[in-house]
Amino acid sequence: MTTVAESPAPSPPPPVVIAGGGIAGLAAAFELHRSHVPFVLLEASGRPGGVITSERVDDFVLDGGPDSILIQKPEGLALCRDLGLADRLMPTSKPRLAFIQRDGRLHALPAASVLGIPTQFGPFIRTKLFSWSAKLRMGAEWFIPKKTDDSDESIGHFMTRRFGAEATTYLAEPLLAGIHAGDVDRLSVKALFPRFTEAEAEHGSLLRAFRRPAKTPPVPDGPFRSLPGGMSELVQALVNALPAASIRFNTSATAVAADGGGYVVTTSTGDTIRARALVLATPAFATARLVEPIDAALASLAGGVNYHSAGTILLAFRRDAVAHALQGSGFVVPRVEDSGITAGSWLSSKWAGRAPKGSVLLRAFVGGARDPKAVEKTDVELVHTALHALRPLLGIAGDPLFTRVYRFMRANAQHDVGHLDRVAAIDRALGTHPGLFFIGSGFRAVGIPDVVADARSTAKKVTAWLAASI
Ligand SMILES: Cc1cc2nc3c(=O)[nH]c(=O)nc-3n(C[C@H](O)[C@H](O)[C@H](O)COP(=O)(O)OP(=O)(O)OC[C@H]3O[C@@H](n4cnc5c(N)ncnc54)[C@H](O)[C@@H]3O)c2cc1C
Repeated sequence: MTTVAESPAPSPPPPVVIAGGGIAGLAAAFELHRSHVPFVLLEASGRPGGVITSERVDDFVLDGGPDSILIQKPEGLALCRDLGLADRLMPTSKPRLAFIQRDGRLHALPAASVLGIPTQFGPFIRTKLFSWSAKLRMGAEWFIPKKTDDSDESIGHFMTRRFGAEATTYLAEPLLAGIHAGDVDRLSVKALFPRFTEAEAEHGSLLRAFRRPAKTPPVPDGPFRSLPGGMSELVQALVNALPAASIRFNTSATAVAADGGGYVVTTSTGDTIRARALVLATPAFATARLVEPIDAALASLAGGVNYHSAGTILLAFRRDAVAHALQGSGFVVPRVEDSGITAGSWLSSKWAGRAPKGSVLLRAFVGGARDPKAVEKTDVELVHTALHALRPLLGIAGDPLFTRVYRFMRANAQHDVGHLDRVAAIDRALGTHPGLFFIGSGFRAVGIPDVVADARSTAKKVTAWLAASI
């Protein structure tokens, strides 16, 4: 009698494939894992976290990308709690000041402010950031009639309409170049600052709205938190909480096909993976390429999301090489200052433990909408650009102890005017592709807490959809 060796039964396909291992993909994976839903996560690069990247150099802790989460948006904090990181969260050091450069000097941003516009009389009168005519124009916001229609507009248009041109030049433009690497005349006020349009609609004036006592008391210890090991600590905690075999690094999703009620994903390593649900946590342009064969119109909507590239330059100095007091977190630079950088952070003043005693850690931002070609410069050129801007401003003598340059190519998603309509159309189109989901900063959210919130709520929808479609 001959026996035939039985081959082991092939392992069943995972119900879910996630493409993209930035914070969006990892947060979605974490939520699926909590619901006992097996998944495979494909990450194109060799490390998790996407734009979140921290490293240790001697006793310095460097955040190349994001360095904080905003806790007024609770989902970032909730994720840290779920990962057991709550006790490690640290607030910004005091004094909690930020500055704006004007005429080569730094002016403190008044503490009580609406996107930098003082909402209290005293700080407003005292600041030298604005000319007297600009102060009068900003104060007149109280009486500017409210917009009568519900259409979207750029933040630049909104700010100039309500507060005058100087408010846009010295506040909105540099803050948005610093935070979003974006163009104040393109970014959508409705997508990024819904609080402002709601305040205008409800109270007729932002000054009037924000002078009222806040419904929620101010957060003690300021609105930002970080982690002692940098923001990559959050990424590492997520990876540690997931089954190692479910994550494949150096593996891109290269093609997607719809197949009998599910999806077939082809990878750069030559595999094909069948899944019932597919979560694309990739940048919107990558998402567009992947879904093109399934739905060209959906791909065109996703592909229309604009991205900018930016760079950060980290510079360590001996403390006595920098004359400035460095009291606060840093500064933003209006375009009209023509300084070569968009912002600077004093990382070792902003957070405890970022630099050893007797030294300081600074960071300069370049590129974005203002200077798209900046990231094409060599590291030496970028360090030179940063030093050229920082030396006169901060009184720096001597050379840095060391420098690091980080580039974020097409990494800053721009929620431009009309973004909410675009996302609504994307969501309608996704409704015709059961089991297909988009997350990440290109779509419904941009900062880490909002991206996490969207990823986790989408993962819950995936779980519900899988349960309903058996
Ligand atoms: C310099 C900088 C500073 C910032 N600072 C802050 C901050 O302090 N606080 C804050 O809240 N937010 C900050 N943000 C914004 C925030 O960090 C991002 O919006 C968020 O991290 C985006 O996460 P994501 O997962 O959507 O995208 P990403 O981080 O871009 O991740 C996408 C991932 O998809 C992978 N990928 C791409 N194509 C494929 C493919 N075909 N197959 C598989 N994988 C693929 C990429 O390799 C990448 O890992 C900052 C952003 C930048 C760029």
